[in-house]
Amino acid sequence: EELRRRAAALVHDVPDYPEPGVVFKDITPLLADGPTFRAVVDHIAGGAHGPVDLVVGMEARGFILGAPVATTLSAGFIPARKAGKLPRETVAGAYDLEYGSAVLEVHADTVWPGARILVVDDVLATGGTAAATIELLEQAGAEVVGVSFLMELTYLEGRSRLAGRPFDALLSY
Ligand code: IMP
Repeated sequence: EELRRRAAALVHDVPDYPEPGVVFKDITPLLADGPTFRAVVDHIAGGAHGPVDLVVGMEARGFILGAPVATTLSAGFIPARKAGKLPRETVAGAYDLEYGSAVLEVHADTVWPGARILVVDDVLATGGTAAATIELLEQAGAEVVGVSFLMELTYLEGRSRLAGRPFDALLSY
């Protein structure tokens, strides 16, 4: 509860960003606060259900949180990157944006059948990003053992797209 309060105080609301009517949750003040950043990483790592082989973080803020969670768990880290950024063979998952769609990819040879994977990102909004990531990992034969966020925007109901997989979010709005 103490961590929740401390973390929430370091997330800044930016009205009308990136467009009018949207309130952007800016986590950079939290990342810049060493003890709170550390405690958030420990919270996410501590919420893992059983052993984790790999942490997958989504571009770009999922990298910032996911990589230290991975080292805390002595797990590997896989960046899920936007289309066209990875140089070798990939597995991909598509998701819808307000206009059009986007694709996330991971290198095919970094995921193995049965790998136990924790998916980490900063914000769960509509859930499209997380759902696409889960889909591509499961398509590669991995087991998504948890999906963990710093915060959940509950009014967008993104959690409904995670189909009951073990879920955690330190903060909810
Ligand atoms: P979703 O696919 O709609 O769930 O959007 C989640 C993705 O968008 C995550 O990768 C977030 O980093 C990003 N995102 C959406 N809203 C916010 C926000 O208010 N602050 C920071 N990132 C956001």
